[in-house]
Parts: sequence; C-alpha cells; structure tokens
Amino acid sequence: MSEEWMSRGYITLEELDGVHPLPGRERLMEGPVAIPECPQEIPCTPCREICPTGAITMERVNDPPRVDYSKCIGCSLCVQICPGLAFFMVHLKEGKARVTMPYEYLPLPRRGERVRLLDRKGEVVGEGVVVMVMTRERSRGDTAVLTVEMAEELAMVVRAVEVMGDE
Ligand code: SF4
Ligand code: SF4
Repeated sequence: MSEEWMSRGYITLEELDGVHPLPGRERLMEGPVAIPECPQEIPCTPCREICPTGAITMERVNDPPRVDYSKCIGCSLCVQICPGLAFFMVHLKEGKARVTMPYEYLPLPRRGERVRLLDRKGEVVGEGVVVMVMTRERSRGDTAVLTVEMAEELAMVVRAVEVMGDE
C-alpha cells in the first residue's frame, strides 16, 4: 500500500477505501455504522477489545482494524475508546448525514449548537448542528463524543468540528 498519506498528514477517501472498503450507501442508511480511519500498522487493540459484537477484527496485533459492517450495532464504544481518535460513525437519515466523532477541545459544544465542519485536512467545508453530546465523564475512553448533523454529501468528508462562539 502506498503510504503517501503519512508524509502528507491526512488520508484521502480513496486511500481509506483501499485499506478497508468503506460501507455502501445502503448500509449507511440502515443505521449508524462504525468506520475506522486507522491505516497505520501499530500494536493497538482497544477498539477490538471493547466491541460488544465482535464486529472489529485484526488478524495480527499490528494490523489496521477491519469492521464487519453487518455486525456493527452503532454503539459508539469504539469511537469513545480509541486513543488515536481514529473511529467515526456515519448514518444517513432523512436526507441528512449524522457523523459521530471524538472531540477533545473545550468548550464542549451544546446540543443544538451550530458548529463549523472540517474535513480531513482541517479545512472548513460547511456548518452543521450538534445533535448528541457525550461528555468525557460519560465516555468509556478519555474523549468526549459528538454527533453532528450535516448535509448528506458531507457524510464521508467531515471528520472534525470547531465551535463558532458568539460570531
Ligand atoms: S460501534 Fe459498537 S458495534 Fe459498531 S464497531 Fe464500534 S464498538 Fe463495535
Ligand atoms: S483503538 Fe484506534 S488507534 Fe488503536 S487500532 Fe483501534 S482504531 Fe487504531
């Protein structure tokens, strides 16, 4: 596998799909499904250990995680526990996308708050609304988790958000 993404600092959707095929639109519409963005070969397994359905596998401890999308129940535990902030969940619902992601900054946005949407490069690509907030205290890992609603076409683009403050 080409590892240009390592020197570039972010991975493209095409490269991710090459590491582990992404779920199709039909699966994204069935319910929230976990997507790993962890292509690097590192000895790390918390996501596999915490998954209650055995959906996450890796043959060797260094392998990137793979998700059996048919076994994922969208519990978000992998998003909560991943120390590399490398797991997300995506759900297409009623013409919108809901993306669940780790969030490590303060202040934590509130439910209903508008936020700026950032792509994998950190560039602003639009605005969305926070529909779920799990505080760090409620999370099984060391990070808070947000679910953000946005335009459907941004489902596989947005992987971070920024609070907008009082502007
Ligand atoms: S969301 Fe839950 S069921 Fe799905 S892969 Fe993550 S831990 Fe497993
Ligand atoms: S816990 Fe996170 S960093 Fe570790 S293997 Fe799983 S996705 Fe990768």
